[in-house]
Amino acid sequence: MGKVATWRAVCVAAVLTTIASILVTEVMVYFLFQGQDLRAALILAPLISFVITIPISFFIWAQVRRNVLLNEELQRLVDRDRLTNMATRDFFFSRMRDNPQTFGISLMVDIDHFKHVNDTYGHLAGDVVIAQVAKLLQANTRDDDIVCRFGGEEFIVFLKNHTKQSGFEVAERMRKMIAEQIVAFEHEQLRVTVSIGGSLKERLKDVELAIRQADAALYKAKARGRNQTVFAALSNGDQSAA
Ligand code: GH3
Ligand code: MG
Ligand code: MG
Repeated sequence: MGKVATWRAVCVAAVLTTIASILVTEVMVYFLFQGQDLRAALILAPLISFVITIPISFFIWAQVRRNVLLNEELQRLVDRDRLTNMATRDFFFSRMRDNPQTFGISLMVDIDHFKHVNDTYGHLAGDVVIAQVAKLLQANTRDDDIVCRFGGEEFIVFLKNHTKQSGFEVAERMRKMIAEQIVAFEHEQLRVTVSIGGSLKERLKDVELAIRQADAALYKAKARGRNQTVFAALSNGDQSAA
């Protein structure tokens, strides 16, 4: 049974239910009717069945449609962050777990000194900054990549099929664009920077491990003065961190 999400689908489902009900009624009358006038019974019974079934089945399928829409809305709330309209952390992990073969670069992106933005210009200004950073991150990714708000002023970006080299280039492009962007809020013009930690997720390697490594790299980027990108060393002995 397809998804009953539109009124057209409700009508089709109600009509099909009614037809099924009429057929069952006819068969039952044919085999079970004991009276004199079988012909009259075969005409009358489906009429009664039709009058009863059409409103009831329409009502029931309308409720099914309502539940389908509510479920879709709930799923959207779970999958999408409202401020940025980005994927949520839950969505990110479920996509990654569904595709363990995926390889690419995980980036942890964190806005620098964001508490200062909130404290100086207020939470609303902070929200505008978060939404703007989200937009720039999204603008630098492809359809196959995943960009999600990991929480607060932290984002995670998964660059599918990227190598360390190309992933680093994308991360740097994002970082520079964000640093150059002026965010207008009321009469203020705000600028923020981000620090980025990156790691390579190989095929079948746990996404949790890749994120832990990206997080550790982000920590280094912060410690080294912020507004920079640091990549975790590769597990095959490559100790270079960009
Ligand atoms: P660092 O450079 O080390 O990352 O410092 P920071 O100030 O960015 O980090 P910290 O973790 O101290 O502060 C993050 C702040 O982000 C604290 C919290 O109030 C704020 N925050 C979290 N979520 C939201 C949000 O949705 N909107 C706004 N406006 N602020 C948020
Ligand atoms: Mg921060
Ligand atoms: Mg943070």
